Amino acid sequence: MTEPQREWFEKDYYKVLGVAESASGKEITKAYRKLARELHPDANPGDSVAEERFKEVSAAYDVVGDEEKRKSYDDVRRMGPTSAMFGGGGPGGGSFNVGFDDIGDLLGGLFGRSGGGRAGGRQQQTSRAQQGADLETELSLDFADAVNGIETEIHLTSEATCSTCNGAGSAPGSAPTRCGACDGSGMQNDNQGFFSMSRPCGQCGGRGSLITDPCPTCRGSGGEVRPRDVKVRIPAGVKTGQKIRLKGRGGPGRYGGPPGDLFVKVRVKDHTLFGRQGRDLTLEVPITIPEAVLGADISVPTLGGEMVKMRIPAGTASGRTFRLRGKGGDAGDLLVTATVLIPDHLSDEQRAAVESFAAASPGSPRSHLEV
Ligand SMILES: [Zn+2]
Ligand SMILES: [Zn+2]
Repeated sequence: MTEPQREWFEKDYYKVLGVAESASGKEITKAYRKLARELHPDANPGDSVAEERFKEVSAAYDVVGDEEKRKSYDDVRRMGPTSAMFGGGGPGGGSFNVGFDDIGDLLGGLFGRSGGGRAGGRQQQTSRAQQGADLETELSLDFADAVNGIETEIHLTSEATCSTCNGAGSAPGSAPTRCGACDGSGMQNDNQGFFSMSRPCGQCGGRGSLITDPCPTCRGSGGEVRPRDVKVRIPAGVKTGQKIRLKGRGGPGRYGGPPGDLFVKVRVKDHTLFGRQGRDLTLEVPITIPEAVLGADISVPTLGGEMVKMRIPAGTASGRTFRLRGKGGDAGDLLVTATVLIPDHLSDEQRAAVESFAAASPGSPRSHLEV
């Protein structure tokens, strides 16, 4: 017989919670919340009787508050421990922890099962340290800042390390005490015949320590949701959709676990003039027919705002691209594509000029295509 089964067989959790065996899940939860509030260590400082009752109530709710465990529990109570054990289900990996997770769920309402991420639920808890959840936030960047890089601040409201206890979970001035049930290891062994199973300590929920005086801000969870500013250095050349990882700036770790990471997803605003190609900038520059034919010195803008001179060589075809080295911001080049403007309306004078140019240009450029 396993320890929890013996416990199940011997203890009337319904009585502990003051509900009928036929009570609905809702009624059980309601009864538990009421009792837990009354018996909570915060409300009864130094009252060891209330604390014992609180643990009992939590342990009871841990079983009958869970539909599947409640079924197994009812089976154990009805048929005896062993038959129920082979009857499927059973206590399995259930943890009988009276933990401050529960308190956090109940009174803080912010953490626990809603957190997601790597934080995990209290039922899966197998080791005491838990890494904080990874968080993601978005940052909109001006084109120039994305090209050149920038150091900026992000404002976000999220789970963060509790500012009162610095994540420790204990009220300032107090410290968690070593769990006596598991001697600080967080694990307990069940020895029965061939099997020896390890499970998280029922007293401390696998943490190895007990918070005797919970932090008033976070109620012992070590985390709180609050607005915060996070400095971020955006490297030069980021593109829309890229994520910048800020190690350790995500959700707070629990029970000594490391914090998660914060991912900053970048969105870069378009520029009216410039585009990007790799780490270079692109710019389209219209030129006239005479400029294309005869060549010209022209001025083009750069991202920094100043104009730079460049030479359009005589005989430049429309679409030809020139590379202006180092003019693209952050060590990139500026790729200038010249587009020859073909006028769709001509003055009489222009028409005469083009006609005389045609007259002076005998022969066909397509002679090589004739068969
Ligand atoms: Zn705190
Ligand atoms: Zn323990």
